[in-house]
Amino acid sequence: MVKMTFLGSGGGRFMTITQKRGTGGFYIEDKIKIHVDPGPGAHLRSIQNGLDPRKTDALLISHCHTDHFNDVPIMVESMTGGMLKKEGYVIGSKSVIEGRDEFASIIFPYYRKNLKDVLSLSAGENLDIKGQKIQALKTKHSDPFAIGFKIYTDSGAISYTSDTEYFKGIEEQYLGSRIMILNVTRPNGDKIPFHLATEDAKNIVKRVNPEVAVITHIGYKMHLKGAEEERHYIQESTGIKTLIADEGLKIYMNGQLSYQEKVE
Ligand SMILES: [Zn+2]
Repeated sequence: MVKMTFLGSGGGRFMTITQKRGTGGFYIEDKIKIHVDPGPGAHLRSIQNGLDPRKTDALLISHCHTDHFNDVPIMVESMTGGMLKKEGYVIGSKSVIEGRDEFASIIFPYYRKNLKDVLSLSAGENLDIKGQKIQALKTKHSDPFAIGFKIYTDSGAISYTSDTEYFKGIEEQYLGSRIMILNVTRPNGDKIPFHLATEDAKNIVKRVNPEVAVITHIGYKMHLKGAEEERHYIQESTGIKTLIADEGLKIYMNGQLSYQEKVE
């Protein structure tokens, strides 16, 4: 049984600053426990949602923007039991791990000495951590080293677009996924470079045909316009169940796929 927990559906600079929607990324429990894109609030929201960051095996960081990597240091401190043992893996784009252009590596030497491994990936590369297979996917983003992820679980594949604009053939790399997670920053009719708008998300979901689509990284303008309307549009025009990655949303996947919104 694979269990996913979402820690907020926000993204982009203004949503991140205001925290109208959380920016904690999402958590996958399968062979290993993985936290994807732990942005601002990820650590606190993890604990508030019943997760234990001390038990995380790997952090996946798609690129070097703060809404995706902010809580990495405290997550490393958690995985290593307060820097008292050598545990955990940090995997990310070349910009996050090695530093590129105007970005320096966010994994200080101080943290590296207590991690089992720190690995950078480029699109198309594969990784195996304790039998959990992970593939880095292509994006087109303002951090040119940004990668998406495809995580192969015992119950099927989960794809995550990360931040990207639409490009020809983008869907091919997500094919065969049971869960499709899309960073939809802008609503219909309000596109900006380097990000997906609702229309792009609809086209991707239609082609990939997952069992469920999850939209996250909702930007401030899309939030104000009404993200529910955008969700509804994707679901109606594709016929595929579409959810918003609100804090506390859980998805369970084995033979069947089920989900549960946060119980207050
Ligand atoms: Zn970004």
